Amino acid sequence: MECKDLDLVPIKQWTGSSDFVVMAGPCSAESREQIINTALELVKDPRVNIFRAGVWKPRTRPGTFEGIGTDALQWMAEAKSLTGLLTAVEVGTPKHVEKALKHNMDIVWIGARTTVNPFVVREIAEALQGTGIAVMIKNPVNPDPQLWMGAIERIYQAGIRRLAAIHRGFYFFKKSPWRNAPMWEIPIELKRICPRIPIITDPSHISGKAELIFGIAQKALDLEMDGLMIEVHPNPSKALTDSAQQISPTTLFEILNKLKIRSRLPSNFDDTLEHLRLEIDKLDHELLEILARRMNIIDEIGLYKKEKGITILQLKRWRQMLGDRLESGTHLGLNEDFLTQILQLVHEESIRRQQLIMDNGGNTREDKDAQTSKK
Ligand code: PEP
Ligand code: MN
Repeated sequence: MECKDLDLVPIKQWTGSSDFVVMAGPCSAESREQIINTALELVKDPRVNIFRAGVWKPRTRPGTFEGIGTDALQWMAEAKSLTGLLTAVEVGTPKHVEKALKHNMDIVWIGARTTVNPFVVREIAEALQGTGIAVMIKNPVNPDPQLWMGAIERIYQAGIRRLAAIHRGFYFFKKSPWRNAPMWEIPIELKRICPRIPIITDPSHISGKAELIFGIAQKALDLEMDGLMIEVHPNPSKALTDSAQQISPTTLFEILNKLKIRSRLPSNFDDTLEHLRLEIDKLDHELLEILARRMNIIDEIGLYKKEKGITILQLKRWRQMLGDRLESGTHLGLNEDFLTQILQLVHEESIRRQQLIMDNGGNTREDKDAQTSKK
């Protein structure tokens, strides 16, 4: 079985959602009252499909609130029977799976700190075998689509067919406006390789701040993600965990009202869009040709350096180049971070090619000429 062939129950079918799935509820279950009140508020809006709460909390540092544990599952079960909402909790061990099943939870999700560990994912998969419960898999904290896919495949192999991925962003060591960098290219890559896996975006853990949630949620819908997981607390400033990113039920409803749902296949697929897309196709091909030409010259330089016994990395030259390109690129209106990343990538690839030439004894200038004449 490959990720592209997953045979899943469509998410709209098992969540009852219309445009997109909405999964909401507190970061942590804190008290019976908090759980029941939040669920009773959320069920007032028919767009909410799933009630979530963390019962066991993975915390970075000890000595902080680590969740109520099994008692809170009782409150979740009560919320489920009072509201009819589907209920979801996080699991991090086979024991958690067993307890969630015992309390009739509809969905379990695997947290970002668990997805990174194939041993634990395998143990959880074993505990899920033959149960038919729905499972959602958060992206690993590090931006590795393969690891994310691996966890999805392991759970699928346990016979789970109600399956979704949750995009909650990635740990990023540099200062950024986000708590976890969204790196949209990673969920897009997951969709490309596993087109059948629905992806739910978690704007709360990406943004870390209540006021940034709407922007992330809108972007998720514009990128054709399948749903949103948003942390909701009756009194966010008093929340025991993730207080800055939680919003009240009323704020959630306001956000849902404000979100624009754009049609996926434009019904008015007019000439303008077609024309602009053709233009983009043409420019992308030009970019590829220029890159290939640049790499050919890099190979020439590699051969020259090899013949003369010169090192590959010329730090002074690289600094000058970067400064020069950033200056002209930013004048052209390109973003500096974007430019830096692209230039670094091109530079890394150039080094890799030159290294190949250095390591490959036979690749002399004559060999290269011979190769060229064969074409
Ligand atoms: C959560 O959803 O409350 C949670 C702990 O998330 P993550 O695993 O994304 O950090
Ligand atoms: Mn949280």
